[in-house]
Amino acid sequence: AAAREALERFIVDVPDFPEPGVVFKDITPLLADHTAFATVVEALADAGRDASGATVVDKVVGMEARGFILAAPVALALGAGFVPVRKAGKLPRAAYAVSYALEYAEATLELHEDAVAPGERVLLVDDVLATGGTVAATRELVERGGGTAVAVAVLMELSFLPGREAIGDLPLHSLLTV
Ligand code: IMP
Repeated sequence: AAAREALERFIVDVPDFPEPGVVFKDITPLLADHTAFATVVEALADAGRDASGATVVDKVVGMEARGFILAAPVALALGAGFVPVRKAGKLPRAAYAVSYALEYAEATLELHEDAVAPGERVLLVDDVLATGGTVAATRELVERGGGTAVAVAVLMELSFLPGREAIGDLPLHSLLTV
């Protein structure tokens, strides 16, 4: 409840960004408030814990770029490693690549081949779940190397888009549905 209040208070709707007709959820005011940021990081981290509070993941993956900001403190809170999933061409060493369709184009995400070891359990963290394409591609990257995606944690789920269906049976922890 504290996390939801923080989101409702500090996330700003920006009409017609980045293009006409889109209402962009701007999380930067939330990040700038220490209490709000700490509250949502703790709430996201719960997705990587069992009922007794023990950490059940080895790695926390964040997707470029806003996913990085959230996934890194979640990893520290859980005592797990942080792993970046990046847009094509940014990672310096051998990487898996997965492409997926955007509305008018294609996007490619990459993961270092040695970033997730076979058998490791992984929590995926991003700011917004929209169509689910980003999360589905990231799950595929993690599983390519023999890891297991155990859950996805996001600040917000846009319920007018089919994100929940796109991620299949992967448990979704969203702090706010809009
Ligand atoms: P999806 O792949 O369609 O689910 O889109 C999710 C990705 O787009 C995430 O990485 C988000 O950061 C970004 N995104 C989509 N809509 C918004 C928004 O309104 N605010 C911030 N990020 C968004």
